[in-house]
Amino acid sequence: MSYVDEVLARIKEKNASEPEFIQAATEVLDSLRPVVDANEDLYRKEALLERITEPERQFKFRVPWVDDQGNVQVNTGYRVQFNSAIGPYKGGLRLHPSVNLGIIKFLGFEQIFKNSLTSLPIGGGKGGSDFDPKGKSDREIMAFCQSFMTELCKYIGADTDVPAGDIGTGAREIGYMFGQYKRIRGVFEGVLTGKGLTYGGSLARTEATGYGLLYITEELFKSHGDSLEGKTAVVSGAGNVAIYAIQKAHQLGAKCVTCSDSTGWIYDPEGIDVELLKEVKEVKRARLTEYAAKRPSAEYHEGRGVWQIKCDIALPCATQNELHLEDAKQLVANGVTAVCEGANMPTTIEATEYLQENGVWFIGGKAANAGGVATSALEMSQNSERLSWTFEEVDAKLKDIMVNIYHNIDDAAKKYGMEGNYVAGANIAGFEKVAEAMLAQGVC
Ligand code: NDP
Repeated sequence: MSYVDEVLARIKEKNASEPEFIQAATEVLDSLRPVVDANEDLYRKEALLERITEPERQFKFRVPWVDDQGNVQVNTGYRVQFNSAIGPYKGGLRLHPSVNLGIIKFLGFEQIFKNSLTSLPIGGGKGGSDFDPKGKSDREIMAFCQSFMTELCKYIGADTDVPAGDIGTGAREIGYMFGQYKRIRGVFEGVLTGKGLTYGGSLARTEATGYGLLYITEELFKSHGDSLEGKTAVVSGAGNVAIYAIQKAHQLGAKCVTCSDSTGWIYDPEGIDVELLKEVKEVKRARLTEYAAKRPSAEYHEGRGVWQIKCDIALPCATQNELHLEDAKQLVANGVTAVCEGANMPTTIEATEYLQENGVWFIGGKAANAGGVATSALEMSQNSERLSWTFEEVDAKLKDIMVNIYHNIDDAAKKYGMEGNYVAGANIAGFEKVAEAMLAQGVC
């Protein structure tokens, strides 16, 4: 049995109750085979794959808080510090009822390679809670965030572990958490990113993941002698990533005709009205039915369905495993050219393989959505310098980073004879740097 297969078998046995983590580890290790085969003796002797797939440490803790009726509620909090070989742990905090240890581990594992790809000095981590922010009052959100940070603050710091936002954690939640950290630890430092602009946040961080997704998509088309001008895109999600992906796509000449949330989806053949979407989702925190009610050209449908709309580009920007094999078949039948992932692992392994086998240009989330964490690292730099860069400066650095990522993953795929396989290219390029750092640092 090959070293990769041995390690994968052990991971499946040890983590049987964590399907998302097994899925992520399988996807990464499978694509690393050529690199691992070329270095098998060394990696085996150093137990490199066993170490890189085992978190350095993980915390699971109680988060009690009081709701508006005076009742005590209890949630579970998590922080997985996966790998610090190339820098302090860095990765977001997800607040969603589906959160469990396996989901946080899958996200933390992916984060190692994504962060490495940005070329910035950040290790991999992730955290969150099964708390559901939907329908909660501002006071309840604050009560939860303060309780969550009361425990989390023991494990994080500007040079050790720097969390950020993710699903359910936006500027409001980061603000409440930052306030509580400062109150307990007594230091004003860049311990969280995604902060408000008045207290250390970076311009362009809000836009970064969506904008970065479009910068890499643009570079993909450019390198194939094409452009985004006149292309039709379908987008899933209606949160932070989706909104700014749509905005940048429109600026670059493409038209996004769909978006979705967890209850339904919009088809708007005239193109999504970003200002209206922001009003509905960012200001009112309402459902997409409100968008349809105010936009005569839009149709609202219950359930899921964006992938059935004919398009050139598909941008999944909601959550994991939201684009299935039958969706991939529909996209191919409709003549899709490219699929670039704004969300983390939104495409199932079978769907990814089908798209690749049918000649679709496919860039996975580790590369395509790395603009968010890259800009978070730029926020850390600004905090350390105690300076703020302009929007244009941050946006220009973000664009450079995304263009570089494209060429790095393209080159890595070519180097191992897998031209056009951007998934393998991203895993290999991300892995090589972390592996080298781990080997240099000895057994730890
Ligand atoms: P948000 O919470 O802002 O938005 C998430 C969107 O996806 C919402 O429209 C939400 O619908 C929908 N959604 C969430 N869960 C489900 C589900 N189970 N089924 C259907 N729809 C769902 O999150 P973000 O936009 O920040 O994150 C989206 C994805 O991008 C995640 O995978 C995240 O990990 C990834 N990502 C985010 C980064 C960032 O900077 N924000 C950086 C890199 C990756 P509803 O409103 O109904 O909940």
